[in-house]
Amino acid sequence: MTKDSILSKVKDEEVVFVRLQFTDLTGIMKNLTIPVEHLEKALDNEIMFDGSSIDGFVRIEESDMYLKPDLNTFMLFPREKKRGKVARLICDVYSADGEPFDGCPRNILKKVRKEAADMGFTMYVGPELEFFLFELDEKGHPTLQTNDAAGYFDMAPNDRAEPARRDMVLALKAMGFEIEASHHECAPGQHEIDFRYVEALSAADNIMTFKMVVRVVAQKHGLHATFMPKPVFGIAGSGMHTNISLFKDGKNCFCDPKGPIGLSEEAYQFIGGLTKHALGMAALTNPTVNSYKRLVSGFEAPTEVAWSPQNRSPMMRIPAKRGSSTRVELRNPDPSVNPYLALASNLAAGLDGIKNRIAAPPPVLENMYDLSSEEKKAMGLLSLPNNLFEAIKELEKDELLMNMLGAHAQKKYIEAKLAEWEAYCCQVSEWEIDRYLTLI
Ligand code: GLU
Ligand code: MG
Ligand code: MG
Repeated sequence: MTKDSILSKVKDEEVVFVRLQFTDLTGIMKNLTIPVEHLEKALDNEIMFDGSSIDGFVRIEESDMYLKPDLNTFMLFPREKKRGKVARLICDVYSADGEPFDGCPRNILKKVRKEAADMGFTMYVGPELEFFLFELDEKGHPTLQTNDAAGYFDMAPNDRAEPARRDMVLALKAMGFEIEASHHECAPGQHEIDFRYVEALSAADNIMTFKMVVRVVAQKHGLHATFMPKPVFGIAGSGMHTNISLFKDGKNCFCDPKGPIGLSEEAYQFIGGLTKHALGMAALTNPTVNSYKRLVSGFEAPTEVAWSPQNRSPMMRIPAKRGSSTRVELRNPDPSVNPYLALASNLAAGLDGIKNRIAAPPPVLENMYDLSSEEKKAMGLLSLPNNLFEAIKELEKDELLMNMLGAHAQKKYIEAKLAEWEAYCCQVSEWEIDRYLTLI
């Protein structure tokens, strides 16, 4: 879209407010709402905000920052007619001197994307976000109660979640999403809605929008939607499988009918790169304390760095489809990610594989959950980090990923995540009380 087409669309649709959205380093969406009269100024990149009030951005002394809207992200929100229509634009953050701010996650993804483009590659991403729908209590606070007893792909006609999920799909479609499928996931109260793969930057924008829409629609149905990776002990957690393909000259270059199992050299090298950087990448693909409660045996979430042509237990799987759908399904990411940083790390790792011709390890055909630790060791398999602290330490050791983040973002991100880890470590949990209070 152009500045003029946006201004005329806004006039035709009688838009009253425009939300200028951006994302902080930890993946939280921020927005500055402007009355439509100021839109022209925003489109000329003249809207300033106080960067010191955003986590991981800048200090008070240098707080003036600019929002530069990406015109291609213009979108109208459905409904809200009572108070006038609302549109949104996703923005990149620029510093006062007019340079792209290197602590803006969207700028970080754009930087890696440019590196891919210079090599002739475009990454496409189809994310599969899982989430839980929980009941609210009398005060309207979320509980851990679900109102359905359905399982994977079940139909449960009395389930309040079913109409909520249908409304989510309708709202997403009205906002331009191409929805591929939506279904009940394997745990009670757990759902998944899949949307079509798009170029990586749009995919990250879509993930942010998707989470917001799902939460808002759930609220309208008197339910709470959460993307927390493991809200309930003993049942499956929520993943964000990330289906990745690489295109060159308009063609999926992971596909090679003559290659082993129909995969090209680039595909194997990309897998090699993802394997090499898996441990450090976890700090970005599994970025919360809770993320590591999901990465345990037995719930279709991966625990080991490995790949397989079909098997759902390792970190990477190659779904059966070939041709333009040839892809690597990265299974460890979860929906608590900052999608810009997670996808940037996936792309940077994969490109490293291609640049340095990193060989993929042999595929693992066994169910990983059935292997003993001795067997895994003998096969040379590494485990994914056990917790956020281990993941941060791995990230610090990974030069490629640290460079990708740049000096500002690596410092702020690691500081924020260490603080999160330390706050968690000094808590006394229910598990400890149950275990020790009467025993000792
Ligand atoms: N919920 C599982 C996870 O935590 C994935 C289930 C599936 O294969 O869709 O990753
Ligand atoms: Mg799923
Ligand atoms: Mg999947």
